[in-house]
Amino acid sequence: MPVDLHTHSNASDGTDRPETIVRLAVAANLTAIALTDHDTLSGLDEGRAAAERAGVRFIPGVELSVDHEGLKIHMLAYWIEPIDGPLQDRLAWLRAGRNERNREILERLRALGHPVTLDEVMAHAQGEAVGRPHIADALVARGDAVDRSDAFRRFLADGGPAYVERVRLTASEAIDLTRSSGGVTAIAHPATIALDAAGYGRLFSQLAGVGLGGIEAYYPEHPPELRAHLAGIAASLGLTATGGSDYHGSGKPGISIGTGRGDLVVPDDAVDGLLAHRPDRGAR
Ligand code: AMP
Ligand code: ZN
Ligand code: FE
Ligand code: FE
Repeated sequence: MPVDLHTHSNASDGTDRPETIVRLAVAANLTAIALTDHDTLSGLDEGRAAAERAGVRFIPGVELSVDHEGLKIHMLAYWIEPIDGPLQDRLAWLRAGRNERNREILERLRALGHPVTLDEVMAHAQGEAVGRPHIADALVARGDAVDRSDAFRRFLADGGPAYVERVRLTASEAIDLTRSSGGVTAIAHPATIALDAAGYGRLFSQLAGVGLGGIEAYYPEHPPELRAHLAGIAASLGLTATGGSDYHGSGKPGISIGTGRGDLVVPDDAVDGLLAHRPDRGAR
């Protein structure tokens, strides 16, 4: 039975509540679901409670944007709890960085003739991790873009006219903090990093050497050959091939929980594989 180890709720930039994500996971016959909102753990309690009621395994997670030698990488961290701790402190710092950056993006949009206000943006954000997708929603509501993708294409994409960098952790800090929290990391959607084959080989083995646990091989935008190729690289490095839909509700049309664009299957042994990389497995 399959699993889905990459989903977003309205605690960050998804549009569904955490309990809805769990309900959709049950409807898709998944045996485990991970909630991996960007930079926040605030959806986890609701997701876990819903999963306990439904009898599906729940994996508390978070997605981080990290920097590694000038590369922008998304990293998934699993078995991270909404409690106090050093990783959680850094998440608060990342969210504060988002808020500062959002103000700068709005200044740029104003200069471009699109004076979106912070109140308009916050009307589209239900959680504490606010970012470009919510600014995109506000642009759509004003009639300045037709949908989120259009707003990214016109204004918000990396290098776009309203783009502003945001603060990030380094990859090794994210791995260290996750491990010291009892969790395990995986590189998300590696195809978005845009490296050549040698570059990927170097990146994966470097990060494997500092405690990475997995590589997200099974991902909607990866063609079947790439899924198999990445799973093979993971195995050769002693890493776990993981996967997920990157579900964002109506924020990312065409993606379903579990099945992605219809052809996604994430094998449930990915969960045991990740568990085996937890630093203190057996202790909890
Ligand atoms: P932020 O975290 O504020 O930098 O925003 C990045 C998020 O925006 C990503 O995690 C995606 O969920 C979403 N996103 C990125 N590119 C696009 C796009 N072209 N269209 C729609 N959403 C996007
Ligand atoms: Zn997102
Ligand atoms: Fe991502
Ligand atoms: Fe994601």
